[in-house]
Amino acid sequence: MKYKCKICGFIHEGEILDGYYCPLCKTTLFDFEIIEEEPKKSNNKEKKSK
Ligand SMILES: [Zn+2]
Repeated sequence: MKYKCKICGFIHEGEILDGYYCPLCKTTLFDFEIIEEEPKKSNNKEKKSK
C-alpha cells in the first residue's frame, strides 16, 4: 500500500501508523491519500501465491 501526501506529494510506502506525519511538510496522515496500485495486466488466472 502506498500513501501520497496531498500537500507536498511525498509518497509513503508500506503501512502508515497512527500519529504518522509527513517528513517533508509535517502534515498529519489525514492529508495523505491512499494510492491503490493497479494490478498488472498479465494473465488473469487465479494463482495461489501462498
Ligand atoms: Zn507532505
